[in-house]
Amino acid sequence: MRDINVSEIIFKVKNMCSPANCILNSDIYNSLKNAQIAEKSPIGKEMLSQIIENADIAKTDNVPICQDTGMAVVFVTIGQNVHITGGSLTDAINEGIRLGYTQNYLRKSIVKDPFIRVNTNDNTPAIIHYNIVEGDKLKIELAPKGAGSENMSKIFMLKPSDGIQGAKNAIISAVETAGPNPCPPMIIGVGCGGNFELSALLAKKALLRPVGTHSQIPHIKQMEIELLEKINRTGIGPQGLGGNTTALAVNIDTYATHIACMPIAVNISCHVTRHTVCEI
Ligand code: SF4
Repeated sequence: MRDINVSEIIFKVKNMCSPANCILNSDIYNSLKNAQIAEKSPIGKEMLSQIIENADIAKTDNVPICQDTGMAVVFVTIGQNVHITGGSLTDAINEGIRLGYTQNYLRKSIVKDPFIRVNTNDNTPAIIHYNIVEGDKLKIELAPKGAGSENMSKIFMLKPSDGIQGAKNAIISAVETAGPNPCPPMIIGVGCGGNFELSALLAKKALLRPVGTHSQIPHIKQMEIELLEKINRTGIGPQGLGGNTTALAVNIDTYATHIACMPIAVNISCHVTRHTVCEI
C-alpha cells in the first residue's frame, strides 16, 4: 500500500483552481486559432479574434477566462493500492476547492439548496466522480463547468429502432435548440449507451478528451466527423452571431446498454471548456 496524506491532496487541488480557470488548454486554444483563419463570416471571424484575445489576457493577467468559474467537477482515478491518511478523500478535495476558490477570488457560484438558494460562499461542494483502478497512483482531474452551457444539455431515451440516424438527429436537435446560449463555438460531449445516469456521465467525461482526437471505434469516429461538419453548417457561428464555426469538436463515448434501451446524452460545453490534471 502507498500512503497519501490528505494535506497533499488539499494542496494539489487548491493549486489547480486558478490555472484551470485562467489558462485555456492548448488543444482548444489552437483549435480556436485555426477556426479564426477558416471562418468565412466577417463577424464570426471578429468574434473568434475577441475570444482568442480574451484567452490571451486571462493567461497573461492571471484572471478567469470567464466570469462563470463554474461548479467544480472532479474526476478521481484512484489506484486500489493507495491508502489515504489523515482524513477523508472527499473532504480533502472539497477543502482544496474551498481554498482555491476563496484565495484566488474566483466567483463562488454554488447554492446549498436548489430551492432556497443561499450561496455556500466557497464554491463547495464539488461534484466528485470516483474510479478505482489497479496501481498506487492518484489522478485528479478538475473540470469547472459553467451553467450557461450546462443548462443547454439534454438526455434522449431513444428506442433501439431509432438507430444511429436517430442518435444523430437527437444530437443535432440539442445543438440547434441551444443556439447562441452556450457561448459557441461549443465542444459537445456525447454519451451513448449505458442507462439514464451513465449516459450523462459518459457525455461529461467525453468533454475531457482533447479537441482534435477521435474515438478509437471506427463507426463512432465517423459519427464524430459527420456530426461536426453538420453542426458547423447550422450557421449558428461564434457567439451565435453567424458563421461556420459553431463547434470545435464532437466527442462521443459509448458503453454497453440494455436490449431495450438507447440513451443518448448531450453535454454541451462552451469555448471555455476547462480541464486541469494532477497525479500524486
Ligand atoms: S457558457 Fe462558458 S463562456 Fe458562456 S458564460 Fe458560461 S462558462 Fe462563460
